[in-house]
Amino acid sequence: MRSHLLNDTTAESYRRSVTEGVERVANKLAATRRPFTGISPDELAPAVDAVDLDKPLGDASAVLDELEQVYLRDAVYFHHPRYLGHLNCPVVIPAVLGEAVLSAVNSSLDTWDQSAGATLIERKLIDWTTGRIGLGPAADGVFTSGGTQSNLQALLLAREEAKTDDLSRLRIFSSECSHFSVQKSATLLGLGSSAVVSIPCGRDKKMQSVVLAAELERCRAEGLVPMAIVATAGTTDFGSIDPLPEIAALADEYGAWMHVDAAYGCGLLASPTRRHLLDGIERADSVTVDFHKSFFQPVSSSALLVRDRATLRHATYHADYLNPRRTVEERIPNQVDKSLQTTRRFDALKLWMTLRVMGADGVGGLFDEVCDLAAAGWDVLAADPRYDVVVQPQLSTLVFRYIPTAVTSPAEIDRANLYARKALFASGEAVVAGTKVDGRQYLKFTLLNPETTVHDIAAVLDLIAGHAEQYLGENLVHA
Ligand SMILES: *Cc1c(COP(=O)(O)O)cnc(C)c1O
Repeated sequence: MRSHLLNDTTAESYRRSVTEGVERVANKLAATRRPFTGISPDELAPAVDAVDLDKPLGDASAVLDELEQVYLRDAVYFHHPRYLGHLNCPVVIPAVLGEAVLSAVNSSLDTWDQSAGATLIERKLIDWTTGRIGLGPAADGVFTSGGTQSNLQALLLAREEAKTDDLSRLRIFSSECSHFSVQKSATLLGLGSSAVVSIPCGRDKKMQSVVLAAELERCRAEGLVPMAIVATAGTTDFGSIDPLPEIAALADEYGAWMHVDAAYGCGLLASPTRRHLLDGIERADSVTVDFHKSFFQPVSSSALLVRDRATLRHATYHADYLNPRRTVEERIPNQVDKSLQTTRRFDALKLWMTLRVMGADGVGGLFDEVCDLAAAGWDVLAADPRYDVVVQPQLSTLVFRYIPTAVTSPAEIDRANLYARKALFASGEAVVAGTKVDGRQYLKFTLLNPETTVHDIAAVLDLIAGHAEQYLGENLVHA
């Protein structure tokens, strides 16, 4: 069994084994004709159930053969141009290379004595990111597992900075389109069930700052504490960006922590043409970025950035065995002092490889391409009488709904759209997402693949219309 340990004597077997795995995936990528096979959980489960984990195959080639049946054959492939579903991106090769390196070396970013150079690389990328945001000379941050964790940590810092023992008086303001991790964080942080004040969005799906101002005033009048305002720079559903300068001014006026959730919109930080859409972000107290969404990085790669590094002390705990207090005086850089995690992956290496190979303009240019594609897709949808489209995209999302020519009830249209989404997924021809707008069922393209074309968008719209028409036709027959 020792032959499976990665070390000096097994380097050759490591090379062979990983090469074979890479070979299989490369073949898969080359042969994949659809983003998905359409298999159902019930159809796939028996293959996984049949595997006896107590009877190992002993040999990686055999396991790769088995993996073909239980995973690779039916995986959802994000590199396919007709994957238009969620905010999970096709990945760039330098980042995948970084992933292979970081897991083999297995640095852990909690302490310097487990990570050495990796800590410095992570710190340099944090500085690069805060520089792009414009957070100023005292800025700092840390890589996290994702936007959910980044938002939780941001709100933890905000809670501690609010300096109130009475948690029931704390209020967080975020738009109705903000990510559910804001609500989840409030619960985890022990705030009351009414802690999150939901601010309505306008038709453009951006937070209405006039309503925010009124709610802040009401909060003050009621003797409550405005702990934080969460502005979303790229809502998950619409890609809309809240009015950051107005929100920053209100955060100043009411003494609230300003957090910008740029999990999706962070790609604009590297965009050669659209950086201005984030103007105002430089006034934030904290910012969430998800490199695994708009920087084409594999899951996971995310960070929390803060304006004032001193605020990170709210996440600092010392353990004699790990990061004793003296290491602070000795100026040993232990990233665990800033993190909610302890053992932590060197995810930063993927972004490092990406920037060193492609440069910021290279990766930002890819995000620009998908934003351009969304703009072109909007034109297609707006001109198509079969579809109602919600909001002109700022980033790379299109939300729309099939509308039949024959008069039917709104509920029937909801069912036709939901049916079309499911039927398309089951066909594997394309993958699209869905959401609700004002209680009605809509469909969604999240465009993150620069290989997707306007032709793909038009073709998928035809497929959706076909499924919806089939549903309505069948249903009319039955009715
Ligand atoms: C995706 C997303 C999150 C959550 O990020 P994860 O990486 O999935 O944890 C938070 N906020 C917004 C706006 C998002 O789009």
